[in-house]
Amino acid sequence: MLQDVGRMLSRRDEFVDVACPACGTHERTLRFRKYGLTYWACARCAMVYTSPRPSPATLDWFYRGSVNYAYWHRHIFPQSEQARRTRIVVPRVTRFLDICRRFGVTGGSCLEIGAGYGTFCQELHSRGVFSRIVGIEPTPDLAAHGRASGLEIIEQRFEEVSFAENARFDAVAFFEVIEHIFSPREFLERCRHALKPGGVLVLTCPNIEGFDVMALGPLSDTVDVEHLNYFNPRALKLLLDTCGFELVGVETPGELDAELVRKKALSGEYPLDEQPLLRKILIEDWDRLGGTFQAFLKEHGLSSHLWAGARLRG
Ligand SMILES: [Zn+2]
Repeated sequence: MLQDVGRMLSRRDEFVDVACPACGTHERTLRFRKYGLTYWACARCAMVYTSPRPSPATLDWFYRGSVNYAYWHRHIFPQSEQARRTRIVVPRVTRFLDICRRFGVTGGSCLEIGAGYGTFCQELHSRGVFSRIVGIEPTPDLAAHGRASGLEIIEQRFEEVSFAENARFDAVAFFEVIEHIFSPREFLERCRHALKPGGVLVLTCPNIEGFDVMALGPLSDTVDVEHLNYFNPRALKLLLDTCGFELVGVETPGELDAELVRKKALSGEYPLDEQPLLRKILIEDWDRLGGTFQAFLKEHGLSSHLWAGARLRG
């Protein structure tokens, strides 16, 4: 991971300055610095974003040569696929289908952008709701793996794919993608062309107003060189609005915030000496209060794991 940080920073001279990726405002205040990068908070919508940031060409170079991803693809994903399926993908598919149902989408076609290993598409297929499921995955090894599992995979970058008007989708999903994108606006505008009018868009991303990011700031592992965009619900709504979508539902069903902060406290990285309330909840009375505290965060939009469901205006 640190090798990747070094690679990214080696191209820093080519980084480009940007305004707020959600609302386009230039006014901003410094939120923090990490890895030599600058994280700003937008004065209008409170989104946090890096600027200057790597251009799309630099990002493409970065991901193609990523040491960290190569390691994950070779070692972590194959060995953890079953656990990831059970603990991450099965609940993800259930929640996704629940959102689709609420939007009135109960069949037809579905597109996943960034299909990776294809586990989501496979699991979705097994539920029998959509008659056509397509994954976009530009990484050759991953695309081959998906196809070998019987999936329909488009082996191109999303930016290169064109969607014929008669082949648009009822639902489009992407998980933990938008925080990596140079221009979320251009990305969502492309999503618009992939969807039928009234179609549903479902995404997940980190929530900058979530507990672990708010508490830990730059110490949070969510803050890394690959994540350029840190949305909050309001910023996401502003952006979706101007891209032709109506944001209908936001939830923060994350389970890990309290545990992540607790681990940083236990390791000494985030001392709680001057925060007796957090020390009580996260350390001293953890067994009794930890679960209830996390449930409170989830319920009140304060988890760092955000789900959004939006509808393409007809
Ligand atoms: Zn903004």
